[in-house]
Amino acid sequence: MYDVVIIGGGPAGYVAAIKCAQLGLSVACVESMSDSEGNQKYGGTCLNVGCIPSKALLDSSQRFYEANNDLSKHGINTGEVKLDIPAMMERKDKIVTQLVSGVSGLFKANKVTPIQGHGKLLSGKKVEVTNGESIEIIEASNIILATGSKPIEINSATFNNNNIVDSTGALEFSSIPKKLGVIGAGVIGLELGSVWCRLGSEVTMLEALPEFLPMADKKMAKEVYKEFTKQGLDIKLGCKVTQAKANKTNVKVEYEENGSINEKVFDKLIVCVGRAPNTKDLLSDDCGVDLDDRGFIKVDDFCSTKEPGVWAVGDVVRGPMLAHKGSEEGVMVAERIAGKHAAVNYDLVPSVIYTHPELAWVGKNEEELKAEGVEYKTGSFPFAASGRALATDESVGSVKVLADKLTDTILGIHVFGPSAAELVQQGLIAMEFGSSSEDIGLTMFSHPTVSEALHEAALAANGHAIHIGNRKR
Ligand code: FAD
Ligand code: NAD
Repeated sequence: MYDVVIIGGGPAGYVAAIKCAQLGLSVACVESMSDSEGNQKYGGTCLNVGCIPSKALLDSSQRFYEANNDLSKHGINTGEVKLDIPAMMERKDKIVTQLVSGVSGLFKANKVTPIQGHGKLLSGKKVEVTNGESIEIIEASNIILATGSKPIEINSATFNNNNIVDSTGALEFSSIPKKLGVIGAGVIGLELGSVWCRLGSEVTMLEALPEFLPMADKKMAKEVYKEFTKQGLDIKLGCKVTQAKANKTNVKVEYEENGSINEKVFDKLIVCVGRAPNTKDLLSDDCGVDLDDRGFIKVDDFCSTKEPGVWAVGDVVRGPMLAHKGSEEGVMVAERIAGKHAAVNYDLVPSVIYTHPELAWVGKNEEELKAEGVEYKTGSFPFAASGRALATDESVGSVKVLADKLTDTILGIHVFGPSAAELVQQGLIAMEFGSSSEDIGLTMFSHPTVSEALHEAALAANGHAIHIGNRKR
């Protein structure tokens, strides 16, 4: 009998496990993922096939692109730049292995009991663990469900693990597809589309919606679309893929665009149209846990299900499917089990698309503020006016700060440009402390840094920017 059993060892589950152990609770974490030799692998989608391997390839591909296209501007001539895909993949895999074994190490250090197998919640806070032929029942005072998500498959383009693949397949191509199709111009499509585009693929993206990145700030999304198109991504909006026919060497995709039927042939096709909660064989009929109409486990603001002592966190519950959101929920639930009054601030979950430049934001965008009838002011600053951005040849994009018209409290920060994720993170810390844009304006920033663009945008919200002519008084 444990204090806590967690099903799923991704960033939501493994962080919850470590936090529970740190709070003095006895805890076991059930995980079904294993390597080809049957060794258990913690870290979930994020470490194994998500955040980390994608960022490793984004970084490698950007270096290749820069070596080919940008170094000569600095007076550095390299001659022919050769690409070694197996070495690039080996580097990515090494980072994944290091981090995955790091989680096992943290479990050992914190005395979290690892349990290998598929977990299923039974009634009475029991968990059935199946590992091959063996079935074990374990019990706990609290259960945390953290089984994450899986790629959505569409009927018109079913995965074949050869040339119609999901994001995991797209992290493992052994050569550069000459022509690459991507269904879905969302976060994964843009990140992985960029990777292969930089390495030389001709990339066509087929997006169902007529609007590009509807969750982002509208004006910024327009700027992003223009920049990515310039980089070589052919993003077709308002497209309906009707069928994808694969043979051994290529995929013929038929799609409807502006009322006409078109056809394109690709060497590889990535389908990345969103992810669905992973609840397959997870819940017995009498376990007392409900799903919502989209298949997510139903929880309240504190990640409690309607069954006392059964919690759910991460991608398997409502809200953005982001590793940091899941981890914070894991910490909150651990603390609540230990009797503390923890909460997650769902208003301040940062979003980042790790393209080059990055797009990142936190809080509200202008469209949301307008819809809510909030009166706001904006302060913007282009990286083209930042000394550091110009010096590093990264002057595309801008920073936008949105603040309440009356109180000056910061309501949203949106950045497209160099180190956007880090800049938004700085602003987010200020927002957590209820900062006004004037507070950021009164703060000293090192020169020359790209962070100065956040300073200037905050100053601009009150008409006080120094390096742009936007004085309002
Ligand atoms: P998961 O990470 O999916 O982990 C769930 C775990 O539960 C898995 O290990 C699974 O094997 C296990 N499991 C499932 N069912 C059972 C069962 N019944 N019994 C036992 N074990 C079970 N997010 C970001 O914040 N930043 C990024 O840069 C980012 N990049 C991404 C890139 C890609 C290509 C993808 C696909 C995703 C990316 N994400 C990113 C999303 C991020 O990976 C997820 O939000 C995050 O992993 C969710 O964490 P989780 O713990 O809820 O679930
Ligand atoms: P997404 O929701 O970001 O994008 C999916 C896109 O596919 C949308 O634009 C949608 O309109 C489109 N689409 C849906 N059905 C379609 C169809 N039939 N034909 C054409 N287009 C269609 O989902 P994703 O890119 O698959 O990513 C899944 C999740 O993983 C996201 O929720 C994201 O939060 C997470 N993720 C995060 C990061 C990050 O934080 N940097 C990176 C990768 C993934």
